[in-house]
Amino acid sequence: MLCRVEVWAHDRWRIPLPNGHRFPIDKYRLLRERVQDRVTVLEAEPVPWEWLAAVHEARLLERIRLGELSVREQRGLGLPWSEVLVERGRRSVGGTVAAARRALEQGIGMNLGGGTHHAGRDFARGYCLFNDVAVTLAHLRSRDVARRALVVDCDVHQGDGTAQLLGPDPDAFTLSLHGARNYPFERIPSDLDVDLPSGTGDEEYLRALEDSLETALETLPEPDVAFFLAGADPWEGDRLGRLALTKDGLRARDELVLDRLLETGAAVVVVLAGGYAPDVVDTVDINAATVAAVAARDGALS
Ligand SMILES: [Zn+2]
Repeated sequence: MLCRVEVWAHDRWRIPLPNGHRFPIDKYRLLRERVQDRVTVLEAEPVPWEWLAAVHEARLLERIRLGELSVREQRGLGLPWSEVLVERGRRSVGGTVAAARRALEQGIGMNLGGGTHHAGRDFARGYCLFNDVAVTLAHLRSRDVARRALVVDCDVHQGDGTAQLLGPDPDAFTLSLHGARNYPFERIPSDLDVDLPSGTGDEEYLRALEDSLETALETLPEPDVAFFLAGADPWEGDRLGRLALTKDGLRARDELVLDRLLETGAAVVVVLAGGYAPDVVDTVDINAATVAAVAARDGALS
């Protein structure tokens, strides 16, 4: 029997948003509908609060749980608080944990969400409530199933929350490739930040990616687990990104990262991160191509 790759989704937890809000809530449902003939989509479970507390400050979690974020925090987060927002956030992390468990057993795993890299120990901002990658790594370490981790963050925005949480960690290496003039404007440095000029296209991007991946793997040659944030927002038509990759360029990016990471023998965990195309279908096209690249590489261990 031909086995299909399982991926995790949480699109049934749809947050209420004001009309015209830029957060692409529809992409999660549209992506599941697009790929469910090809992959098995499972429902992500919410992670327990204790797992979040391994990474995030207790007082921040309390404010999130009770809906007591300050006006300033609310504005920084950019999403209105609701009970479903919190539930969705916990399930988004749960999807990354489940994908990581699969990756440890079968080589690769994917969450149709996650990549919430602007969430730090004591802050939740830029549409990111909890840092799924850092929480997942802490969980894997607590179970003694992985220790050394590489994060390859290809979202167009710099991964400041992940940098805060994992940057100082000697067993983790954080690489972020992003638009130099994109949010966040005050950075927390990653182990390796690659600031790309506005308008950077496929060729220069792929060259910078290849070089920086090699540097990362020289520093941490045999990661147990590698997280790939396959952001759709370096696309040329993105509303928030300032780079100019084509859809073909993004597909080449996915293949380059996946092949290089699988080669190291690491468990490879793929998460979506951002994507803000004026027509959400373009973002879904890019994300679906990432799912296809993952599916094509599944079974490498069998
Ligand atoms: Zn982004």
